[in-house]
Amino acid sequence: MNAEIIAVGSELLLGQIVNTNARFISRQLADMGINVFYHTVVGDNPARLEAVIKIAESRSQLIIFTGGLGPTKDDLTKETIARHLQKNLVTDEEALRSIEQYFERTNRVMTDNNRKQALILEDSQVLKNDHGMAPGMVLSTKNHTYMLLPGPPKEMEPMFLKYGNAVLLGKAASQKVIASRVLRFFGIGESLLETELEDLIEAQTNPTIAPLASDGECSIRLTASAASFDVAQLLLDEMEEKVLARAGEFFYGYDETSLMKELTKTLKDKGLTIACAESLTGGMFQQELTSYPGAGAILKGGVVCYTNTAKTDVLQVSKETIDKHGAVSRACAGELAENAANIFESDLGISFTGVAGPDESEGKPVGTVYIGISVKGTPAVVEKMQFGGGREANRIRAVKYGCHLLLKLLANSQSA
Ligand code: ATP
Repeated sequence: MNAEIIAVGSELLLGQIVNTNARFISRQLADMGINVFYHTVVGDNPARLEAVIKIAESRSQLIIFTGGLGPTKDDLTKETIARHLQKNLVTDEEALRSIEQYFERTNRVMTDNNRKQALILEDSQVLKNDHGMAPGMVLSTKNHTYMLLPGPPKEMEPMFLKYGNAVLLGKAASQKVIASRVLRFFGIGESLLETELEDLIEAQTNPTIAPLASDGECSIRLTASAASFDVAQLLLDEMEEKVLARAGEFFYGYDETSLMKELTKTLKDKGLTIACAESLTGGMFQQELTSYPGAGAILKGGVVCYTNTAKTDVLQVSKETIDKHGAVSRACAGELAENAANIFESDLGISFTGVAGPDESEGKPVGTVYIGISVKGTPAVVEKMQFGGGREANRIRAVKYGCHLLLKLLANSQSA
């Protein structure tokens, strides 16, 4: 079954909103092993919407619409589909009741156009809207399945997850179970990873292997279909083993995790605390760390030591170090990490100093980055990196490398 997603809304074409619905649905369909070959965006215009429906029908079996299910005149998705398929719109009593209850609850007057939201395509299956008024629906004809979902992501996403994907899974693989698993890697480029896995990728059947790269990271999505969940998991386990035999040293986690999430979990499990000295990253490391619950037990504190004065006066880096080696140096990164751990009395200290760009600094090229890591009471280990991105990309990569280095250090200390 090949799918196409049609996002309806002039706001999308005007650039006022981003088509995050297509991204969400595509990811979900990928997990189910359903191929999405086209994303289409069309304005609130019935003639143009009908034209894209015809095109979609010529190349896709599953057509998923988002948007245009609201009460106003420009919300025309189901009316246009009804006309196109010569179907009537009929009132769904349950949806009407829940709309009426909503108005009673909120003491507001219900108008006729709100009633319009309870209309569904005849013969369609209703997808309940637990977070809004307009129900979604699925209609199957001989050659096509049409799924209509509301536009607001806070309504569409839970509707898809709770009701929509169950309907599709049934259709997708004739009752087969589809299971997928994402393996996340850091420190290896996408092309190198693909080269390592070339023969597996070329020979893939079940599970399928889909590499993906973003923000300096790579991931591999494995998708298996089988008669039962356990068999699908077994197929995934076998393929994972083969992938990790080639690239295991760069693997750091599964599915929706991140390097920082893994790091906070590891620090928490080991009962370790950390302090930070951030020059290049200006607090980004701590900002991300504190976005996870439980950071309070891990992060003792930190300093955004952007100027040399902050480095010497607050973090007690020796003036001699700065004069002799500069702020962007192995020596400075080492002292920053050690002193951060001492000042905040933490188990670990981490420091970031470097040249984010766009201009070079201290005669050092853009992208030069030093990351220091200190285990309290021992000399810091400092890694030098040379990144090739722009200012923001260099800072983001520095934070990721910091997490990666700490994870490696903690993994090694575990095995020692
Ligand atoms: P409503 O009942 O709110 O009118 P609707 O189903 O008619 O819902 P639209 O009117 O098309 O949906 O869009 C409502 C809002 O939903 C938009 O203003 C936008 O914030 C969000 N939205 C719509 N389509 C998308 C999309 N493709 N991606 C992300 N957000 C979207």
